[in-house]
Amino acid sequence: MKKQFIVIGLGRFGSSVATALASAGNDVLGVDTSESLVEDMAPFLTHAVQADATEEKSLKALGITNFDVAVVAIGGDIQASIMVTMLLKELGVPKVVVKAQSDIHAKVLERIGADKIVFPERDMGNKLALNLASENIIDFIEVSPDYSMMEVDTVRKWVGKTLSDLNFRQSYHVNIIAIKKSNGDININPSATDAIEENDSMIVVGLNEDIRKLVDYITRHK
Ligand code: ATP
Repeated sequence: MKKQFIVIGLGRFGSSVATALASAGNDVLGVDTSESLVEDMAPFLTHAVQADATEEKSLKALGITNFDVAVVAIGGDIQASIMVTMLLKELGVPKVVVKAQSDIHAKVLERIGADKIVFPERDMGNKLALNLASENIIDFIEVSPDYSMMEVDTVRKWVGKTLSDLNFRQSYHVNIIAIKKSNGDININPSATDAIEENDSMIVVGLNEDIRKLVDYITRHK
């Protein structure tokens, strides 16, 4: 069954989360106190409603218990952000993701049960830094705070060797989930007998620390 999303606060962050979710085919209800923002966003979302989400009766009227995920994208008004998060958890929304403005704000959100706290500018900055820090890293996806998925180059001395020969699982504790060829072809189910060819890259999953060690090795042996 499709997941139901509610995005509260349709400023820059909220509206981009809401439109991205909707264009990926999800059901998305956007909520904002501003009528003009709601009107602007309505064509892009499943529904858009003008309401004050700090009011319990408004949330109930929106059928809040039917939503699987809520995104609280109220930045400026910390008190409102806390109030809304608390109500959403009290009313039983399984996953509440909240945009935090400061460390103290994040701490309070954590205490009242926010399931995920994001700092859009800070998080994006960290990701960009990781991407820029090594030219081996073609792309980087945070799977959880500790685990990531990353596309890394291969080194010349691996060419002709199989994944079994190289045994990345043993030496780096990472899993190779795909091998990408220089012509763009991708093997998404690599087996132990598949060999690395010149200019291949690999998509690996593992602990950030282990991936960092592998990237260090690649940088030193290029
Ligand atoms: P941006 O995502 O643009 O950086 P911001 O962090 O500056 O936003 P605000 O502009 O303060 O955050 O809030 C985002 C949106 O949340 C605004 O459009 C505002 O109208 C809406 N908003 C604020 N309080 C509430 C509320 N109680 N209920 C619903 N929407 C609200």
